[in-house]
Amino acid sequence: MKHVAGEGMALLPPAGTPTTSHDSGTKDLISLVVPFYNEAAVVDAFFRAVPPVLQGIVDADYEIVCVNDGSTDPTLGLLLSARADNPRIKVVDLSRNFGKESAMTAGLDAASGDAVIPFDADLQDPPEAIPRLVAKWREGFDVVLAIRAERNTDAFLKRVSAGLFYRVHNVISEIRIPENAGDFRLMSRQAVDALRQLPENRRFMKGLFAWIGFKTAQIEYVRCARCAGKTKFSAWKLWNFALEGLTSFGTLPLRVWTYVGCGTAAFAIAYAGYLFLRTIVRGVDVPGYASIITAVLFLGGIQLIGIGVIGEYLGRIYIESKRRPVYIVRKIHGQSST
Ligand code: UDP
Ligand code: MG
Repeated sequence: MKHVAGEGMALLPPAGTPTTSHDSGTKDLISLVVPFYNEAAVVDAFFRAVPPVLQGIVDADYEIVCVNDGSTDPTLGLLLSARADNPRIKVVDLSRNFGKESAMTAGLDAASGDAVIPFDADLQDPPEAIPRLVAKWREGFDVVLAIRAERNTDAFLKRVSAGLFYRVHNVISEIRIPENAGDFRLMSRQAVDALRQLPENRRFMKGLFAWIGFKTAQIEYVRCARCAGKTKFSAWKLWNFALEGLTSFGTLPLRVWTYVGCGTAAFAIAYAGYLFLRTIVRGVDVPGYASIITAVLFLGGIQLIGIGVIGEYLGRIYIESKRRPVYIVRKIHGQSST
């Protein structure tokens, strides 16, 4: 069956419809899903390093699903010329930049492998780790996490903020995301189909990956520095990404205001009792400007924070309720028959 992607066609994951895995004899098909956003500087190095490693995996075929996430540099042309040399490379060209999470979703939807591995274009995930992921999967695990042995290649501030994020996230969310595991991991076809059934529009992939569960194993790897080009995540983008993560998988930030409110009210009642008794004993005590203004400002601040948090969630409900597709495909180059 040939999939034809029409111009401007929206590819929403068809909920509940597992993709048929390929049927080329007994060989496993390994899909690598790679988002590219303005990565012209790394494309050559990527295709020099990665296909030989995949080629070397015994009893396996491979495909590399490259998602062009609205690059404004020559990335798309370079991907297409790589595809001309190697038909195992598919190129999913999105209509604009949708962000890494959406690009990865597009890639997971287009991948037809028995095992699917999200992978960064900048070779920060070492290709040599892929055969180790596959070996674990063949032992019978559905998900194999690649855990970073250390974070030496990250700047100090990123290390500290990442550590803080994981700690806070895992305290306030119902889902625990494993520390030091990025998007680099292997998922079985069953796990990928489960992931594709999750309908949300705002996709915090680290959380979604953890939510689906399944029998999970880990391997350790050392994350390298970016091989060329610049990171696409500014501090501001990372901050927003962290907020996304914190509000995607739990409602504690919303519920906590009930307790803050109860605490403040209890304090207010006690203080009112104290003032009442003091007034009876010592009479009316008019000065008190400082304490009144402090209480007004403090409570005003607390209320605004509470409203801000509600706004954060409300914004998400608003976006989610529009039911827009996660991404729009302009064209798929080389959608293989499935
Ligand atoms: N990426 C993307 N869309 C974006 C931003 C990033 O597809 O809007 C891709 C990027 O091309 C790379 C991967 O996501 O393959 C990771 O990005 P980057 O290396 O900049 O992030 P970092 O490793 O610094 O966290
Ligand atoms: Mg990177």
